[in-house]
Amino acid sequence: AATRTAIIAGNWKMNYGPRQAADFVKQILPALAHVIRTHPHIVSILCPPDISLQVVRDVLDAQPTRGIELGAQNLYFEEKGAYTGEISAEMVKELCSAVILGHSERRTYFAETDELVNKKLLAALKHHLLPIVCVGETLQQYESGQTSQIIEQQVRHSLANLQPEQAGQIVIAYEPLWAIGSGKAATVDDAVKVIRQIRQIYSSQYGSSAAQAIRILYGGSVTADNIAAFTAQEDIDGALVGGASLKAEFVDLVRNSS
Ligand code: PEP
Repeated sequence: AATRTAIIAGNWKMNYGPRQAADFVKQILPALAHVIRTHPHIVSILCPPDISLQVVRDVLDAQPTRGIELGAQNLYFEEKGAYTGEISAEMVKELCSAVILGHSERRTYFAETDELVNKKLLAALKHHLLPIVCVGETLQQYESGQTSQIIEQQVRHSLANLQPEQAGQIVIAYEPLWAIGSGKAATVDDAVKVIRQIRQIYSSQYGSSAAQAIRILYGGSVTADNIAAFTAQEDIDGALVGGASLKAEFVDLVRNSS
């Protein structure tokens, strides 16, 4: 992580509508802003549900802090039109600087494929959003030794078709599905091994300078207590955090990541 700015992103998932989101962000912001100001090599990205983006934007704008950013949890790749229930990259960009793409819950419950994730990625980049593209294997794939094969497939296909100037502008989150929301994080060794592999695959796709530029995060049951073990690793550039991003603990987690 030495030369790359670390990212701690909070994925609120389907939690906190506008009222609760405003209350929560007002509650954590003073302490979070202090941590970010005193740790300028960390960027924190809050990712509330779409319907709460505006209220969180307003709270953040009332006390602007470099390094606290707003992200969406998804978008649709088309520019506009008859796609009921969807929002475009251009719409996201009005409020956000980042977007999570291909989260395992999107892949599992909403049948998102690598091909779809790739289209969303291209749309996000076109509109200058920082995409956080998630990859990860299931428990069954992990137990049957298929992790590296699954990861290779997801990286090659989800991250295909980038222009050379775009290739350094992305973030990948390695999130083993069995570690998400389970309270059972991957071991640091496993996370490092897969993250190194991701960087190698990416290097073979886009060259070593792009591969050295991108941030690769770990995600899956990260807490204020275990974050430091992950971020102490040169190869791990931060975390994508679910459950622990919904509590005041998130501020401790961000602090402990440095
Ligand atoms: C996630 O869903 O991105 C995640 C990492 O969740 P949790 O931290 O709750 O395991």
